[in-house]
Amino acid sequence: MAPPPPFDATNTPELPFDTGLVEAPGALTAAVLRVEVVRSRRRTKSVAATLHDDLVRVSVPTWMTAIEADEAVRSMVARFERSVAAERLDLPRRAAELARRYDLPCPAVIEWRDNMRMRWGSCQRTTGVIHLSNRLARFPDWVIDYVIVHELAHLVEANHSPRFWALVDRYPKKERATGYLIAKGGELDE
Ligand SMILES: [Zn+2]
Repeated sequence: MAPPPPFDATNTPELPFDTGLVEAPGALTAAVLRVEVVRSRRRTKSVAATLHDDLVRVSVPTWMTAIEADEAVRSMVARFERSVAAERLDLPRRAAELARRYDLPCPAVIEWRDNMRMRWGSCQRTTGVIHLSNRLARFPDWVIDYVIVHELAHLVEANHSPRFWALVDRYPKKERATGYLIAKGGELDE
């Protein structure tokens, strides 16, 4: 990437909301977080953000255009909203409950991941580690449960074999959850 141009106050596009408190951008439906955007001269390379209680404070380098900054702020806020949403669910407890109900193994570890862009879940059968994309965290519980059951079944059957589907088909809302995930894009796992 090219180094950022030197700061030029006369040529700096303003953010629509330059400083001060604003509502979370409209695209982010749940206005659970407040957002404060600061144009920073010190912050020369990238956007940074911190979360204190319900306030996201985003520091945007002055060289960024308004469009770039807006996009960066949205992405930061969305990221914090995902992690806040993820915190509401006790994944290990939920997985243990579903494992019991469907007679599947308990994972050694089940954790949210913030960096899964193409997959909703993943399962390492040899280590028993399951990762779920935290983009799931704001979906209905029956969708999250389906992904958990799907990954738990991979602890038994690595591939999408008929035996695998026989395990997963016991989850009553499998078809509905699959449709929901398809509509949201991405693939469940490989
Ligand atoms: Zn799968």
